[in-house]
Amino acid sequence: MREKRLIAEEELLRQRDYMERVRAMHDEPKYAFVDTYGCQQNEADSEILRGLLLEMGYAPTKDETLADIILVNSCAVREHAEMRILGNVGALKPGKRLKPGQIIGICGCMVQQEHMAEKIRKSFHHVNLVFGTHAVHRLPELLYQVLTSGKRVFAIEDKEHEIVEGLPVLRASKTKAWVSIMYGCNNFCSYCIVPYVRGRERSRDPDVIVSEITQLISEGARDITLLGQNVNSYGLDRDDGVNFSELLRRLNAIPGKFRLRFMTSHPKDASKELFETMASCEKVCKHIHLPFQSGSNRILKEMNRKYTREHYQGLVDYARSLMPSLALTSDVIVGFPSETEKDFEDTLDLVETIGFDALFTFLYSRRKGTPAAELPDCATKEERQVRFERLLALQNEHSKERNQRHLGTRVEVLIEADTPEKMNLLARCDDNRPVRFAGDPSLVGRFAIVEITECAKWSMEGTVISILPE
Ligand code: SAH
Ligand code: SF4
Repeated sequence: MREKRLIAEEELLRQRDYMERVRAMHDEPKYAFVDTYGCQQNEADSEILRGLLLEMGYAPTKDETLADIILVNSCAVREHAEMRILGNVGALKPGKRLKPGQIIGICGCMVQQEHMAEKIRKSFHHVNLVFGTHAVHRLPELLYQVLTSGKRVFAIEDKEHEIVEGLPVLRASKTKAWVSIMYGCNNFCSYCIVPYVRGRERSRDPDVIVSEITQLISEGARDITLLGQNVNSYGLDRDDGVNFSELLRRLNAIPGKFRLRFMTSHPKDASKELFETMASCEKVCKHIHLPFQSGSNRILKEMNRKYTREHYQGLVDYARSLMPSLALTSDVIVGFPSETEKDFEDTLDLVETIGFDALFTFLYSRRKGTPAAELPDCATKEERQVRFERLLALQNEHSKERNQRHLGTRVEVLIEADTPEKMNLLARCDDNRPVRFAGDPSLVGRFAIVEITECAKWSMEGTVISILPE
């Protein structure tokens, strides 16, 4: 029998009760600034935090001096992000002195690590609320405790086997929506902290996902991104037989014109069925983000990725045979412990042979508690930096060349936002490439045909040919 994975209704009612109590404490307008670091999963969590705060009487703001509460939703994937977050949290201290009573909170992956929560407790006394990734829904109760006790509140629980449905969400955009379809990760890639701070994989009920997305589309959303650390293993922890491809087919059947995207896909679980589904579902964008991490089979093994470069190449060949115009993006790590010059050359070679539309390149960052953190380095810091720049230069050539192919073509775009720039409208192609052009701001949310007139490394400019009917 599958364990009961939804959080108990009583717990949600308890939090509702706290929401009302916090709301009743205010006799003037209050503001909250939720600052987000890291991946789209964090962006999605921040939309829930803003939703909860709004219900408690805190309107959203980006002005730190106005905010009665500042919540920093943190990331732990690389040391660089952690250093930046700690620096920025430190810089909030003088502002708090000028605004006594301001609450400063840190939540998310960074503080889910015990040593980081401890560091905040010891060295960041102006932070009065700290909670981890499994306590997002408890914000009302935790905030109430801070407000009524005047003491610092820490909630870093390690209890993860629950999915919380029905929390309020304040979405940043009407046109684009992030929808988490699963939480956590079971893969334990040897360099990665995510499984330790996000817990094991938990997939949401497919019927709940379908009705949430149906609702979003009826409210004007036109670009839906399904989120999970490894969406290809969606449903494996459930017993209703709905795998990721089946979920895509069900979502594709929702009436209306809209786009479906998803991230991230792990190559070990990317199946032929997935690519066949992408090819046959007209609403599924012809773009896949498929991180390969390294082109060396030895390093892939050390990384515990469970595939070879040949397997990866086979997946790409099959996907491109079904979808010749498929956009392919990926993540790569440079300088993994024990990476030799030869291993790095294998990565360059894979990048050269496959030809990616864009690459997210990362210098390896040692994460305390992960198996790779115990391995010795092979290359010096300088050597790793040189490798990183060589990879970047190679990819820049590819990105430019692949973008140039669009010059003079007509593409269908979704207009996502009006911006202060001269080319004010920001739109996106099916393959996720941004296109800018000048136009009427009221067109946000509409599909249009645009002719591409300028191409840079990744973004493009164009002129409108026609606006598609709603
Ligand atoms: N679940 C996703 C990625 C999550 S983290 C996946 O498996 O594809 C996003 C990216 O950060 C990873 O793909 C990896 O390239 C990078 N990353 C993760 N841990 C890292 C580390 N310790 N050092 C450098 N890059 C890392
Ligand atoms: Fe990290 Fe690997 Fe899980 Fe991605 S699949 S979140 S890289 S452990």
